[in-house]
Amino acid sequence: MRTIYAPGRGFALRDLLFPHQRDCWLCGSEVEVGEDGLCTRCRRSVLRHTEPFCPLCGRSVAKRGLCYNCRARPPAYRRGIILFFYQGKVREALHRAKFENDQRAAYALGCALARALRDRGWTDFDGIIPVPIHWMRRLRRGYNVTEVAARAVSEELGIPWWRDVLARRGHTRPKFAMSHEERMHDSGRYEPGTGIDRAAGKRLLLLDDISTTGTTLHQTAEILVRRGCREVTAAALAGNSLGAQEHAEGE
Ligand SMILES: [Zn+2]
Ligand SMILES: [Zn+2]
Repeated sequence: MRTIYAPGRGFALRDLLFPHQRDCWLCGSEVEVGEDGLCTRCRRSVLRHTEPFCPLCGRSVAKRGLCYNCRARPPAYRRGIILFFYQGKVREALHRAKFENDQRAAYALGCALARALRDRGWTDFDGIIPVPIHWMRRLRRGYNVTEVAARAVSEELGIPWWRDVLARRGHTRPKFAMSHEERMHDSGRYEPGTGIDRAAGKRLLLLDDISTTGTTLHQTAEILVRRGCREVTAAALAGNSLGAQEHAEGE
């Protein structure tokens, strides 16, 4: 059963992007598309992060336990999920979403994430927070890939999503201009948004498109935690296991 949640809009983005939805969202083929919106060939070719997972960031690890990154610096969020490896057809789909205005790919990846969250029983969120991009970039591209994915998760799980809780900074101060204390809590390119008060006491799903080193999710989660949110679960549509990130690209 599918819950459509479109707060105050009266339409679901799904209906706009997928009026018929019979073709595979990865290759466009119309044959044998399953429940997950993928054809058999694509389903076989996409690489998911599988167990054992790092219990904090959710990356596949070689043996049970924390990944190298989380051991060196535990993230500010409680648990994480990274859906696909950033390679092959998923990498192409994200590229289309980012640079060729293919919102369907972004939405479909969000739906896949919603299914993975449901499979794990991770659905008890009060709100979904997409990691923001700079407004100039948003204006140029017309949309934020992460927001489109957040809307998909929102519509699939019936949980509201909020754009104004986090914001993207125009300029960042150089590290040498900061005190030690400031450096410890540097949130990089992010800052609280005008709706930051919504975070207080909430269980939030923080969403990014590609997680390379996990720094963005850590920095944005830290802002939410500092502003009193109850718990952050971090999610990324794609990311590689660390040590295999030479193809990754940030915002
Ligand atoms: Zn396909
Ligand atoms: Zn980890």
